[in-house]
Amino acid sequence: MTNEKRNNELIYSFKCPSCQEGIIDIVKSIYDLPDGDKMLILKFECNRCNFHKNDVIPLSTNMEPGIMTLQILDENDLKSKIYRSPAGKLEIPELELIVEPGPRADFYYTNVQGILFRFENAVSIYRNNLEENDPESSEIDALMFNLRQAIDGKFKFTLKITDLQGGSYIIPLDKSKYSFKKIEKKDLE
Ligand SMILES: [Zn+2]
Repeated sequence: MTNEKRNNELIYSFKCPSCQEGIIDIVKSIYDLPDGDKMLILKFECNRCNFHKNDVIPLSTNMEPGIMTLQILDENDLKSKIYRSPAGKLEIPELELIVEPGPRADFYYTNVQGILFRFENAVSIYRNNLEENDPESSEIDALMFNLRQAIDGKFKFTLKITDLQGGSYIIPLDKSKYSFKKIEKKDLE
């Protein structure tokens, strides 16, 4: 590899979800490839423990403030990559599931299925804490059922990320199911 490193830009820092003590810096670098293409590399590194991750994404990926939407219609769409930055709000409207912006443990760097697993885990903890005969139980059971169907690729839904800072991204396996609506800076003021 003879990639020439062009720049290193610190885009976000947050508390490490692994050791709970260190600070993870997300560093963005742009590499020029020999064939003229450009790649963006995101590095996540904790300054205390061994937690680290790298992600290589095509530079054509949108990093601007906006609303990105992905239609999940079959099993294959579940493999699309998702990164919700701490500034991003993640929603599945059909299941009324929302992750509000925040840097803590809700650090989502995974694929669509990984997000469904995290929701399933959270909902099942909630379910287990309900009293027997709680009227909410049947509603939660229905949600659990739909989540399981979604994980198996049998429930069609929309995954939406609203990011007013521009750091989140979706890399769709099938581009025709993805849409991006840019939010102009002037609309934010
Ligand atoms: Zn750590």
